Amino acid sequence: MMKHIREFVDIPHDKPELLKAQGQAFSRQLPFMYLMLLFNSWALAFTFIGIAPDALAIYCPILLTVICAVRMLIWWRTMRGELSLDKSARVLKIAARISIGIAFLFSLWSVCLFPYGDVYAQSHVAFFMAISVMCSIFCMMHLRLAAMSVAVIVNVAIIGLFGFSGHVPFVMIVLNTLCVSITMLAILVIYYRDFTYMIEARSSARALSNENLRLANLDALTNLPNRRSFFAHLDDEFIHAEATSARLALGIVDLNGFKPVNDLYGHAVGDNLLIEVGRRLQSRCHGRVHVARLGGDEFALIISDAGSNEELLVLGEQICADLLEPFVFSDVSISISGSVGLAVYPDLAKDVTSLFERADYALYNGKRTHRGHATLFSVDHDAQIHRDAKIEQAMHTADLEHELMIFFQPIIDVDNRHVIGFEALARWLSPQLGPVPPGLFISLAERNGKINMFTRILLEKALRVAASWHNNMRLSFNLSAKDISSSEGVGQLIEIIKKSGFNPKQLDLEITETAVMHDFGRARIAIDELKQLGCGISLDDFGTGFSSLSQLHALPLTKIKVDRSFVMDLHIKPASYKIVKSLLALSRDMGLGCIVEGVETEEEMQALRTMGNIHVQGYYFSPPIPENQISAFVTSMQSPEYA
Ligand code: C2E
Ligand code: CA
Ligand code: CA
Repeated sequence: MMKHIREFVDIPHDKPELLKAQGQAFSRQLPFMYLMLLFNSWALAFTFIGIAPDALAIYCPILLTVICAVRMLIWWRTMRGELSLDKSARVLKIAARISIGIAFLFSLWSVCLFPYGDVYAQSHVAFFMAISVMCSIFCMMHLRLAAMSVAVIVNVAIIGLFGFSGHVPFVMIVLNTLCVSITMLAILVIYYRDFTYMIEARSSARALSNENLRLANLDALTNLPNRRSFFAHLDDEFIHAEATSARLALGIVDLNGFKPVNDLYGHAVGDNLLIEVGRRLQSRCHGRVHVARLGGDEFALIISDAGSNEELLVLGEQICADLLEPFVFSDVSISISGSVGLAVYPDLAKDVTSLFERADYALYNGKRTHRGHATLFSVDHDAQIHRDAKIEQAMHTADLEHELMIFFQPIIDVDNRHVIGFEALARWLSPQLGPVPPGLFISLAERNGKINMFTRILLEKALRVAASWHNNMRLSFNLSAKDISSSEGVGQLIEIIKKSGFNPKQLDLEITETAVMHDFGRARIAIDELKQLGCGISLDDFGTGFSSLSQLHALPLTKIKVDRSFVMDLHIKPASYKIVKSLLALSRDMGLGCIVEGVETEEEMQALRTMGNIHVQGYYFSPPIPENQISAFVTSMQSPEYA
């Protein structure tokens, strides 16, 4: 019983939300209660002026008004400041006590007035006390201790004053007031319970939504902030950097060779690898660096108050070195690498979008030119972007069927000087820009999604020319990663090859290692389909990537093309010489054909001749030539003065 009573009147210290809500509701209603009391008191005083002594009819109400005003002022000042939970509890407790005191004073004043009035004035006292107690209970419904105490004090006074007056109407007024007070207290109990439920429900809903918000901003796998949280944080940091003229750097980290890990070792190992990458990044970047996972194998860094470009590049290289360390899981050890692209506000990026795009651009460029390292967005990149924008604009309005052409570069069997085939190389003569190098427009088309259209037009054109060749001459044609990344795309290529009339057995499709690594599984399927048609598959630019021949052995390749970087000056570079030699030996062992690309000089050619019978391609024999020079070139190679 005592426990229930204590519960009923206690301030809920253990429920902070409830305590706060209770304080707020109570503080809103308290001024109304005091105003009501004062107004009613002055109305009662007015009835008694001239009947009761001035001390009671005038000075007492003045004193009560001053007390109420002071109370209100103190209350207002307390509630204006920030309320801690302890302070709220204390303020509520004091408020309850003061309310009890004030109820006592008003009741006492009413009791003192009573004897001076006639029956009408006495009725006003009864009415004043009854109506004021009801209104006070109502106003203090959030502070049950005060409401109940006030109800008890006033009702005791009313009973004492009117219950034994001998006047039936007064006794009935006592009963009415008692009945209404009890009813109101009962309703107050019910109301307070609902109020408690409501506040508790609200606080648990808030806790849930906070948790949802936390989860919505967290990457479930690595526990790092996710893409959404990353961009929100970037916006905040950018506003700060703008306001304080601080340098803000953004880094994007991308793993090289992650997809094959997933394909070869399964997703569980892939997941563990990403978790470990997240850990390594975090342990490398602490303090001012915010690490997030953007998705897939892409991570990002926000470096606030960034240091010099050199410092940023050092951090980038440290990250690359961290990622180069093998990842060891129970029974496997996996080696991958990571590339980092960096951009700095306000150097060459003026807003959040360009900061991100430029870091991405630096990453993309770095992956092409020096994989596994950090690249900072530079003035050169900026110029490239402008140049690319111009090319892209021209691409939109280009009549590609007419503007695209194919040049053919011969591939020579060094032993007998026979032209065994030609590699088709795209050329674009734009009316606005003049000749655009394929290195530029192909990579742009790869990025803007137009590459499939380019490939279809180019393949049709190349096959149309090759269909007229004699003597089993082969055609090599370059494919992009996106050309083999969907079964529809591959289906369309197969259609074009079938329709061309050129024997697919004499067609070599060249793909780069990056195209294969982009999606190993998909590339395998595409290669199988194309091989079924009879086409050969050559691995282009071999040696520039990361994979070893044995890794690529899983693919049904027919040829490799040794990248021209190994051929350059190989007669004076023993390392290059050895690499080319061992690649030739390896490809022979694996039953693969081999073409050495980019032979330019007599000296290089002589050095290559010492390696046995090889197939070469390069300016030494011929640059890529237009269609109408092909037969003259083939004939010239057979002529005796060349032999
Ligand atoms: P790639 O497939 O490695 O083609 C060989 C590139 O090396 C060609 O550049 C060729 O002109 C050049 N080259 C040949 N011999 C020598 C040499 O002795 N010395 C030097 N320095 N260069 C030599 P090109 O035609 O500018 O093509 C560049 C790249 O553009 C190609 O590299 C290929 O990746 C891409 N590409 C060209 N045509 C196509 C195409 O039709 N489709 C696709 N997807 N890519 C293409
Ligand atoms: Ca090629
Ligand atoms: Ca090549």
